[in-house]
Parts: sequence; structure tokens; C-alpha cells
Amino acid sequence: MSFAEALTGAAKKPGGKCGAGQGLATFTGKDHAALVDALAGCGPGHAVSYSQLARALKTEGIITTSYGIGRHVDGSCSCGPR
Ligand SMILES: [Zn+2]
Repeated sequence: MSFAEALTGAAKKPGGKCGAGQGLATFTGKDHAALVDALAGCGPGHAVSYSQLARALKTEGIITTSYGIGRHVDGSCSCGPR
């Protein structure tokens, strides 16, 4: 996807999903289960840090940051209330 297409797509979808939400929407099977588990048990005090999870998502082509993961876990990301 080109930058222009990405920009148009973003404009068409206000409040689109954040990186974690994109992963949840696109992953299937054990990848989806692993992401659900990781989101439930990541961050301060857990074995997996937000930045580790963000790096793992990048290997799947989903660009996000530790800050973005933290916002998803807090429920304050662009995925909206859950
Ligand atoms: Zn989110």
C-alpha cells in the first residue's frame, strides 16, 4: 500500500483500530490466542513488556509502539471502549 492510499484509508476510517486492535482483527488461530494472552499479561509486573509486544507485532507488519500497546491495554486507544 502506498502512503497516499494509507492516508486515504485512514481518513475514511476515523477511529480505526490501533496496532493491537489490528492484530486482534487479522490474526487467526494460535497467533490470535497468543496475542490475546499477551495483551492480558503484558506491561509492568508481567513477563512480557509493552515494547516486546510492539516489536513482535512489527514482525507481522503491524507498526505500533510500546505506548500504543499500553493505551490498548488501558482501553484509551483508537479501538474505542470495549
Ligand atoms: Zn486498541
